[in-house]
Amino acid sequence: MKPSGNIPGWWNAERMADATAHSDVTPSFVYDFAIVREKVAMLRAALPEGVGIHYAMKANPLPAMVAAMVGLVDGIDVASGGELAVALAAGAGHVSFAGPGKRDAELEAAIVAGITLNLESDNEATRALSIGERSGITPRLAVRVNPDFALKGSGMKMGGGAAPFGVDAERVPELVKRLIAAGADWQGFHIFAGSQALDAGAIADTQAATVALAARLANEIGVTPPLVNLGGGIGIPYFAGEKPVDVEAIGQRLGDVLVSRAPVLGDSEFAIELGRWLVGECGIYLTRVVDRKESRGETFLVTDGGLHHQLAASGNFGTVVRRNYPIAVASRFTSEPTETVSVVGCLCTPLDRLGDQVGLPHADVGDVIAVFLAGAYGASASPSSFLGHSPASEYLIGV
Ligand SMILES: *Cc1c(COP(=O)(O)O)cnc(C)c1O
Repeated sequence: MKPSGNIPGWWNAERMADATAHSDVTPSFVYDFAIVREKVAMLRAALPEGVGIHYAMKANPLPAMVAAMVGLVDGIDVASGGELAVALAAGAGHVSFAGPGKRDAELEAAIVAGITLNLESDNEATRALSIGERSGITPRLAVRVNPDFALKGSGMKMGGGAAPFGVDAERVPELVKRLIAAGADWQGFHIFAGSQALDAGAIADTQAATVALAARLANEIGVTPPLVNLGGGIGIPYFAGEKPVDVEAIGQRLGDVLVSRAPVLGDSEFAIELGRWLVGECGIYLTRVVDRKESRGETFLVTDGGLHHQLAASGNFGTVVRRNYPIAVASRFTSEPTETVSVVGCLCTPLDRLGDQVGLPHADVGDVIAVFLAGAYGASASPSSFLGHSPASEYLIGV
């Protein structure tokens, strides 16, 4: 029997009962916003006064989720023109737009909307300036910095070497001077060094290095950055043995770093941007058992869902070794495991496995399986048209 990962502590029998009130429609994602609210309150209590929390909406771009977030956090970070439209429709006030390969139409939409563009290259800067000039609107421009360090232990490293993301730190001062000279409204720095880290010490070290880098760049430029976006990187435990990140420890270290920051950052504001930490644990993916079969001594629960909705749980979204996401029989959530089964999807590929030889209470045709940690990089990060099945329904509850 292989471990089925850790079920996030936010999920108890009562919460599961509320969420599975929607289980007559499967496959579906259910997101409980009450969990998001609790997590944000916990993070705010941990972070130093005045450090903003931004939501990186690519983690879960469901319009209802983004609208709920607008009322809860201090900014929405978007990564495409499509996400920008969703954020604006949700009534977002503070929006910033990062991401490589922004087209002119996307730059223009951002400039017209008056949101902050996090520039990823010199070329993008030139195009943004000329769109601003042409439209008679002063563009609000920040520079995304490709730092000269990476977040240690990060699931996805995004700094320290050559990268399609951001402007290499050593070239940033010259670019910012050019933006200011061209009359742009310079908004500061965006420094993102990695994602899905579970080591509070490594995250705190990275934040300290990020503040130091911002100070070094600002001193070279000779201007105080209005905002320093410190990036994110706080991960969530997906697999057996992993532990939640100690956000209090991170907040304390960041508080110390900010109290003793360089004078050039004295009037700067600070923010962190998070996706999966905010929403990953609030979501479950519900899928119904269509067939129960034995094959050469193994039991398979064949479900009406699969990797076309929840690619990450199948182990095919940025993981090297396939490990089980936490999984349960929704209607027997509090029951002890009695058998070892593999939960598979309905796609005709051996990759479509949601749980590999996991211990579960007995489940049969018609029972609903819940796969946890489905709130981030689920529905929108899966190949939903693969094999022509219907998309999963999505429900936001607890708003
Ligand atoms: C994807 C992304 C995030 C969110 O990452 P998570 O691991 O979901 O927290 C934050 N910032 C930027 C720039 C991103 O591209």
